[in-house]
Amino acid sequence: MDLHLSERHLRFRDELRAWLEKNVVRPWREELRDPTASEDSLIELRRAWQKKLHAGGYLGLDWPKEWGGRGATAVEKSIFEAELVRADAPPILNFLGLSLLGPALIHHGSEEQRRRFIPPMLSADEIWCQGFSEPGAGSDLASLKTAARLEGDEFVVNGQKVWTTYGPWADWIFVLARTDAKNRYGGISFILVELRTPGVTVRPLRQITGESEFGEVFFEDARVPRANLVGQIGEGWKIAMTVLAYERGATALAYSTRYSRDLAALAHACREVGRTGPAVREKLARLVVENEVMRANGVRMLANLADGKIPGPEASMEKLFWSEFDKRFRDTAIDLLGPGGLLLRSCSEARPEVDWAREFLWSRAETIFSGSSEVQRNILAKRALSLPQEG
Ligand SMILES: Cc1cc2nc3c(=O)[nH]c(=O)nc-3n(C[C@H](O)[C@H](O)[C@H](O)COP(=O)(O)OP(=O)(O)OC[C@H]3O[C@@H](n4cnc5c(N)ncnc54)[C@H](O)[C@@H]3O)c2cc1C
Repeated sequence: MDLHLSERHLRFRDELRAWLEKNVVRPWREELRDPTASEDSLIELRRAWQKKLHAGGYLGLDWPKEWGGRGATAVEKSIFEAELVRADAPPILNFLGLSLLGPALIHHGSEEQRRRFIPPMLSADEIWCQGFSEPGAGSDLASLKTAARLEGDEFVVNGQKVWTTYGPWADWIFVLARTDAKNRYGGISFILVELRTPGVTVRPLRQITGESEFGEVFFEDARVPRANLVGQIGEGWKIAMTVLAYERGATALAYSTRYSRDLAALAHACREVGRTGPAVREKLARLVVENEVMRANGVRMLANLADGKIPGPEASMEKLFWSEFDKRFRDTAIDLLGPGGLLLRSCSEARPEVDWAREFLWSRAETIFSGSSEVQRNILAKRALSLPQEG
C-alpha cells in the first residue's frame, strides 16, 4: 500500500489546479446569497459551470474515451473531487446523471442509448434524477411496487417515487419498476422516463432548509417506449447494484478537504464571537483529529483502489463515519456560534464564511440517504466483523 501520489497523479493535480484557478468564477457564492436570487438562477449558474468543466475535458473522468471520458484512474477521480472543493467550485448540476446513470449506461446500456443520452448528460442539456425509493421501499429497496406493464412496444407505468433529488429540476428520471410481481429481485427492470411524458407528475417537497430540490414523482398510465429499457427485462436489480456501487465510491478526500476549510472558518468565527477558552479549543481539536481519521481512511481506500482492489465494507465505514462526523461537526458549530449561527444565508445578518444553519439542517439527512447508518452498521457487522446474524 503506497500512500504517496505518483508523478503522474501529481502532474494531473497540478494541471487541474491551474485550470481551476483560471476558471472558477469567484463571486458565485455571493450571487447565491442574494435573497432575490431564484432557484432558477442557481440552476443556470450550475449548468454554466458544468458546461465549462465539460469543455475543459474534466467530466466523466474515469469513463472510456469514446464516451467523452479520459480513462482516468480512481485516484485521479478522487483528486478531481478534492480539488473542486479546494477551489470552492460550484456544485455540478447533473450530478446524478454523471455519477449514477452514466456508469450504468456504459456497463449495461445499448450503443443507441449511449449515443442518445450521454452527450446531453455531459453538457447539462438534459438533467437526470434517480427514481428508486418509494413510500414503502427505502432501505428495503426490493419491496418497490411501481409497476411497468409491457403493451406492444410500450411500457405502461403506474406508481410513485419519493425523495427524488432534483426531481423538480430534471428532464428525465431513471426508474426501477416492477415487471414481474412474483419475482422479488428478478422482477425489477431499469427504465428511462422523460418527465414530460403524459401521466407523469412531479410534486416538489419543501425541505426544512426552505429549498425544494427534491420531490415526489407520480406515474398514472404513463406510456414509455420499450427502447428506454436498459439491459433486459428483469435485470434492473443487477443494474441498480452497479449504480449504487458508484454512489458509495471513495469521496472521503473531498469531504476532509471541505471540513479542513470549514474548521478553519469555524475557528476564525469563534475568535470573532469571543469563544476562545480551553473548552472551545478542545472541541475544535477533537473535530480536527476526527477529520484526520477520515482523511486517513480515505487515503487507505484510495491506495487499495490504486492497487486494483474493489472497495469492500470500508466504503460503508467511510459513509458511516463522514455522515455521523458531519452531524457532530455541525452541532458543535451551532453550539459555539450561538444565535448568529442559526441564521440562514438569505438573512443579511447571517455569518458570511459558511452557511452554518443550512449545513446543520442538511446534516440530518446524511445519515439517511445512500444507505442509512443502521444499514451501514449491518453491512459492517456482517462483512467486516463476521458477526452472527439473526434467523
Ligand atoms: C436528502 C435525501 C435525498 C434522497 N434522494 C433520493 C433520490 O434522489 N432518489 C431515491 O431513489 N431516493 C432518495 N432518497 C431516499 C433514501 O435512499 C431513503 O430515504 C433511504 O434509503 C432510507 O429509506 P426510507 O426513508 O424509506 O427509510 P426506511 O428504510 O423506512 O428506514 C426507517 C428507519 O429504519 C431503519 N432501518 C431500516 N432497515 C433497517 C434494518 N434492516 N436494520 C436496522 N435498521 C433499519 C433505518 O436506518 C431508518 O432509521 C433520499 C433521501 C434523502 C433523505
